[in-house]
Amino acid sequence: DWMRHKPEYDDQPAVDLRMEVPHSARVYDYLIGGKTNFEADRVAAHASVKAWPALPTSMRTTRTFMQRAVRHLTEQYGVRQFLDIGTGIPTSPNVHEIAQAIAPEARVAYVDNDPIVLTHARALMSSTPQGRTCYLDADLRDVDSIIGAPQLHEVLDLTQPVALSLIAIVHFVLDEDDPQGIVRRFMDRLAPGSFLALTVFTADTDPVGVGGVGREYNARGIPLQIRDKAQATAFFDGYDLLDPGVTLVHRWRPDAGAPQVRDQDIAMYGGVAVKR
Ligand code: SAH
Repeated sequence: DWMRHKPEYDDQPAVDLRMEVPHSARVYDYLIGGKTNFEADRVAAHASVKAWPALPTSMRTTRTFMQRAVRHLTEQYGVRQFLDIGTGIPTSPNVHEIAQAIAPEARVAYVDNDPIVLTHARALMSSTPQGRTCYLDADLRDVDSIIGAPQLHEVLDLTQPVALSLIAIVHFVLDEDDPQGIVRRFMDRLAPGSFLALTVFTADTDPVGVGGVGREYNARGIPLQIRDKAQATAFFDGYDLLDPGVTLVHRWRPDAGAPQVRDQDIAMYGGVAVKR
């Protein structure tokens, strides 16, 4: 039955996927080459790519920023706990696969508010026996319900450092909902030595093209906010940015031999900071 997908957990009711309207998770999935999307998502994706042909490149490059940031934190800073909000439809390798490949005991709490991500949550739970993962169906803006969720505390010990990862999500939180304040409220609940890995959607590199993407999303019912470098940097106020600071995502600690990408094809700033 295409209309109502039964989640993989038997104790949960069928979820209404609202296939007839585009969803950010499924548009993103389509643009990075996934198969978990419907006609309305693909129509929205095509309209956005028409406005700005570099969009798939920018999205795939953002995904690899997440992978480098998680690897760097696990390898160089000994991070063993991650809180990943705006997880998306499971795409391998995900946060726990990257961290557990380095440290099998790593623990990851995933959070997303899209029903289709919930239906695929089992793939996010494929932890090593030494580590642990969980999935919460919750909204980034509900800081208290995320931080207070019992499942989260079964996986994360908040007396110890946690890396909060917010990758390709804060553009879905409009300024009127104070996304910088939301991030600060999460960081306030995390122990000293915790990290923030975050990306911010920008039109600085191609105002006309990326502006067109923003208009397409907004027109199709996915409110989206574009921010400049100063606004991106403000998310990290009060924390110490790791080198090289806030950069376009492809310029953040690139792997040797990574494919060359042009600045004008990237619409995302990224950074990683530590809370002292
Ligand atoms: N972090 C992943 C996926 C990014 S796609 C990656 O970098 O590859 C953005 C995700 O954020 C989608 O899955 C969408 O459902 C989720 N999202 C958007 N707004 C949200 C909110 N307010 N609360 C929780 N998740 C949200």
